[in-house]
Amino acid sequence: MQRLRERLSRSQGGLGQGLLSLLSRDRLDEDTWEAIEDTLLTADVGVAPTQALVEKLRTRLRVEGGQAPDPRTVLREELIELVGTDLDRRVKVTGADGKPGVVLVVGVNGAGKTTTVGKIARILVAEDLTVTLGAADTFRAAAVDQLATWGERVGVEVVRGPEGGDPASVAFEAVKHGVDNGVDTVLVDTAGRLQNKAGLMDELGKIKRVIEKQADVTEVLLVLDATTGQNGLIQARVFSEIVDVTGIVLTKLDGSAKGGIVVQVQRELGVPVKLVGLGEGPDDMAPFDASAFVDALLG
Ligand code: GDP
Repeated sequence: MQRLRERLSRSQGGLGQGLLSLLSRDRLDEDTWEAIEDTLLTADVGVAPTQALVEKLRTRLRVEGGQAPDPRTVLREELIELVGTDLDRRVKVTGADGKPGVVLVVGVNGAGKTTTVGKIARILVAEDLTVTLGAADTFRAAAVDQLATWGERVGVEVVRGPEGGDPASVAFEAVKHGVDNGVDTVLVDTAGRLQNKAGLMDELGKIKRVIEKQADVTEVLLVLDATTGQNGLIQARVFSEIVDVTGIVLTKLDGSAKGGIVVQVQRELGVPVKLVGLGEGPDDMAPFDASAFVDALLG
């Protein structure tokens, strides 16, 4: 959690500090409230959530006779509430009846899917779970090689097919390998060519069908690059029409001042952010926790 704080507060460009110093002014006048709104909008919290948050802050900070509450405490509480404390953010990695859990990882190219698969594998191995990786992004030889490198690094088996081969067949073989070897979790990396929406829908649909002949798909994680802001939201919308997303992985938060995108993307998709990517290294991934996230933002 210490690292979450270091990485986030550095890359958020003082979002939290900015808000806190605005709120510590003696008089919270209209200019100050406007500056607070601007800060939240710049961080990609979104228009409606920003207005609602400011309204709540204003209401709670209105002094009515008694002692006014500490504005910083109120800000922290309201931000945590906005990010959501009652969402189930566990990633379901194990299956039922002795079968593996299957986690499909989807998202546009470059969002960080392959890296995410590698990092999740690393976490699972550290938890003494056995893992198989499926390299179903067969369109790009580099993606398959990259996953193979992660497999070596983390010490898990990678099932790959011929270059340009059928992604569903690789997914099938990966899950078969998992079932045959009593593996706990199969992580399947997929291609994300959003240019051809119908094609991608067919492809992901087929991947799901062949997997479900053998085991349950326990999670469909959508990987979104936090630095892409509103574009990321549009992608999220399109992907949620293509496949039933069960959780979001927000990557590259280490390089983004747009942490507020968490709020928007959860609203947009109605599913929680479950993991965050904080760098390119194998240990640069953390489960998402609303209060730790807000504390990191506030620095
Ligand atoms: P894919 O095409 O979706 O599989 O994306 P990749 O996993 O190949 O990642 C694209 C680039 O983003 C690579 O250079 C990764 O090292 C980098 N990357 C992935 N996740 C993160 C992250 O959380 N933080 C940073 N800074 N870079 C990341």
